[in-house]
Amino acid sequence: MEFKNSQKLYNKGLVNLVGAVNSPVRAFASVGGNPLFIKKAKGSKITDVDGNSYVDLVLSYGPMILGHRHKKVQKAITKALKNGYSFGASTKNEIKLAKIVCDAFPGMDKVRFVNSGTEAVLSGIRLARAFTGKDKIIKFSGCYHGHQDALLVAAGSGLATLSLPGSKGVPEGAVKNTLIANYNDLDSVKAHFEEHDDIAGVILEPVAGNMGVVTPQNNFLKELKAYLESKGALLIVDEVMTGFRSKFGGAQELFDVEADITCLGKVIGGGFPVGAYGASNEIMEMVAPLGGMYQAGTLSGNPIAMAGGIATLTELKRQNPYERFNEVAQIIEVFLLESAKKYGVEITVNRFGSMINPFFTNVTVTNFEEAQTSDTKKFATFFWSMMHNGVFLPPSQFEAWFLSSALSEKDIEKIAKAIDKSMEAVS
Ligand code: PLP
Repeated sequence: MEFKNSQKLYNKGLVNLVGAVNSPVRAFASVGGNPLFIKKAKGSKITDVDGNSYVDLVLSYGPMILGHRHKKVQKAITKALKNGYSFGASTKNEIKLAKIVCDAFPGMDKVRFVNSGTEAVLSGIRLARAFTGKDKIIKFSGCYHGHQDALLVAAGSGLATLSLPGSKGVPEGAVKNTLIANYNDLDSVKAHFEEHDDIAGVILEPVAGNMGVVTPQNNFLKELKAYLESKGALLIVDEVMTGFRSKFGGAQELFDVEADITCLGKVIGGGFPVGAYGASNEIMEMVAPLGGMYQAGTLSGNPIAMAGGIATLTELKRQNPYERFNEVAQIIEVFLLESAKKYGVEITVNRFGSMINPFFTNVTVTNFEEAQTSDTKKFATFFWSMMHNGVFLPPSQFEAWFLSSALSEKDIEKIAKAIDKSMEAVS
């Protein structure tokens, strides 16, 4: 397999783009080599500029849950394009997508669309502070909530990949109201409440996908919610990754926990830039123009993105692929465990619905510290072998692999063969 054209574009890209990428997670920083340049994608496959075709388990870091260029999504956006791209005034489709989203989350009466997951979370946090009149927010180590200043501490995803404890350029004042707790550890949350009486709420990924996949253990979410209620603090659930991915109503439906504020992104835009935050009427009435919490956006509710989102969620509801996702993830888990055993490689596999990934460690992974015991050199070897065997994975140990409903039996066989070869390469 050759990457000559990607290499050429990378060298060209370095001149006017930082690291030739527009998001550091696309750089192959922790696996070595240069980032891939993509030419096109269709269904379960993605093709690079050298003509190499891969089964895609990146899926644009989650949004492409139906696979690429799904017929119905393509048709909806093509139709929307004919009417214009952005108006600075409301459209019918914003109401339609809002209803689909609110109907999926029982605790959500109203939603506000924004342009990214980062915007969704920063607005959700502002809303929690506005509603409670308190300033402090607890976040969990290893969870990533976008690149807003206040939450760029002890974060997963690209920061974990680059071993960055936080970001330069974030003033101390911006994080002085951010408290860090350990995932799956309610006592670490309680300790903060014992010390501070101005905590507005807790934000978390209900299933963490930004330190690799880490699931909530032993009723963690339910107990956290009950505790926060007793303290008059809000539960802000960041479902940017898990919303509509694990279940139509997100991780909240699966774990039977209702957020006070829900943040969404990725899947709800079907591949276009969309984020959203929503809550009960009582909380959302704080938001301008109804209330005094200001948040706005020139392109928010963009008509093309709304059309892509409606088509994606409508098709997702029709397909209801969630059981199948569980089955496929379980099949992949078995491939991973069996080939690891065959070649004597120590791994721990975590999965949740259509999110899965192996850690190269013998430790059970329930938090960031445990995730970091993974041998990232082994991951790098595994990653490159998977690429050479036709499977595109996120180039980092600390990201989830995503499944799409476009995966065929043949794709699954290809993944199985690639895993076997790659585990051998690691051994
Ligand atoms: N929250 C979570 C859980 C995410 O996984 C991400 C991105 O990966 C974000 C927020 C930020 O979303 P965006 O990259 O669209 O700004």
